[in-house]
Amino acid sequence: MSDCIFCKIVTGEIPGRKIYEDDEVLAFHDIHPVAPVHFLLIPKRHIVSLAECGAGDRDILGRMMLLAPKLAHEQGLDAGFRTVINTGHGGGQEVFHLHVHVFGGGAGLPGF
Ligand code: AMP
Ligand code: ZN
Repeated sequence: MSDCIFCKIVTGEIPGRKIYEDDEVLAFHDIHPVAPVHFLLIPKRHIVSLAECGAGDRDILGRMMLLAPKLAHEQGLDAGFRTVINTGHGGGQEVFHLHVHVFGGGAGLPGF
């Protein structure tokens, strides 16, 4: 997707503060963190949102979910962290390239 900001971070066209990369997944710090640690996990392949995923995306979704605690630990979030996936306009999604928010740290987050 030529006009997708996260695809541009994948290609290096725009900078991202990367914390992890493999052949299918990229993780980088959120530019507007809501907690002391806040990073995003994305598939390198352009997927619009969780609502567009199908059985063929099982592996990439599993990969991202398993990477979340590993990278959270590497970022020092040993007391725990929150994962959020905003889906569609109604879910508050602003960047239409699937991403998992992982954040936490400091005094911790309130329950809900
Ligand atoms: P969402 O509302 O779930 O679509 O969240 C999009 C997130 O992407 C927001 O938390 C933004 O701060 C973040 N974001 C937007 N542009 C960039 C960028 N260039 N680098 C890192 N994070 C970004
Ligand atoms: Zn994209």
